[in-house]
Amino acid sequence: MKKTGFTTTALNVPYKKEDPHKSLQMPLYESVAFAFDSAEQMEANFKGEYNAHVYSRTSSPTVEYFEQKLVALTNSHAALALSSGMAAISNTILAICKSGENIISGSRLFGHTYALFKQTLPEYGIKTRFSDLKDFSQIEKLIDKNTRAIYFETVTNPQLDIADIELLASISKKHNILLITDSTMTPPNVFSAGKWGINIEVVSTTKYMSGGATSFGGAIVDHGNYEWSKNPNFENYIEKFGKNAFIAKLRKNIYRNTGGSMAPQTAKLMIHGLDLLELRVNKCYKNCLALGEFFESNKKIKRVDYPGLQKDKGYVLSQKQFDGIPGTIMSFDLESQNACYTFMNKLQIIRRATNLNDNKSLIIHPYSTIYNEFSEEERDASGVRSTMMRLSVGIENVEDLIQDISKALE
Ligand SMILES: *Cc1c(COP(=O)(O)O)cnc(C)c1O
Repeated sequence: MKKTGFTTTALNVPYKKEDPHKSLQMPLYESVAFAFDSAEQMEANFKGEYNAHVYSRTSSPTVEYFEQKLVALTNSHAALALSSGMAAISNTILAICKSGENIISGSRLFGHTYALFKQTLPEYGIKTRFSDLKDFSQIEKLIDKNTRAIYFETVTNPQLDIADIELLASISKKHNILLITDSTMTPPNVFSAGKWGINIEVVSTTKYMSGGATSFGGAIVDHGNYEWSKNPNFENYIEKFGKNAFIAKLRKNIYRNTGGSMAPQTAKLMIHGLDLLELRVNKCYKNCLALGEFFESNKKIKRVDYPGLQKDKGYVLSQKQFDGIPGTIMSFDLESQNACYTFMNKLQIIRRATNLNDNKSLIIHPYSTIYNEFSEEERDASGVRSTMMRLSVGIENVEDLIQDISKALE
């Protein structure tokens, strides 16, 4: 049978066990532990002979259903749900690297990912080598026998640079190292990571997937296309778990032992978020394009960046990699920082807040907030201008957003 579309698939992922009431919603199993019928059954389960849920820090039914939905919607091999996007990222790196080893990453990263790579992990001997990710030879020069992965974000924020994924996949393939992407900005209805040779996807489900900033969460998605024997840190898992070595190492070691699981109540919200994901993203995108075109035609706006706009430097890659929907975040510039503040303070519908992909439109001045601790040179190198604002576009009626913006520009 032909594979169904994104939303149809989301609505029809079967439950692992049939619900006795034929409930149309996955029930919320808010339970810490699960009982066994006999001591023998308990022993068999702990030996791994079958997989019943035992204790919710390692796995639980509602969270598992969210993971299964993610697998169906990403066409992947396996998925793991965590307490936040940062938990997904840190668990992934801790699973693939040990002290003395390194990863390669672009330097334009979500702020706390940058802090994890630059401050936290080096204290435990895991180094990040930052590179220009458009430069094949620079990346190759940084790879050595201890390099375990290339890490990148599909669309960087707030610069809205688009990664050239074919280039990165060709290098990682040539050197047999893992290719990891943070795809938070480009949800699975517009981006199929596995098709592009990406091995592991990490996601902050707090953003699009939560259904509009309802709850905190993260996910790790394994596309099942990496030979884990190429990484010495999986030696103890390959023989027993084969293709599942990565997820097994997480469940039986890193994820279990660091305690970053997703709460069942959160998984319930995420499940609902996935059902509505495509609808929401399409609405945000329509609004985003309309606002982009409005900004392009307004003389007070000095610059607009949104790779969904035809004039944007990222337009061609965005069409190729993300079906033309490179997320629903844009940035735009006024003549001065002061003008930005005056504008932001006059807004009545668009909220001044730091999150992304809420149902509400959110605006921030990154230079004075997220990049507040950075030196002038660092902000320059990051492409964060004092005249720039970032707008996360929501699902409001677009004429109201345009009116709010028009009034604030007066
Ligand atoms: C928000 C975000 C994260 C971190 O996710 P949390 O859920 O806040 O921990 C990581 N990467 C990107 C691109 C993000 O936008």
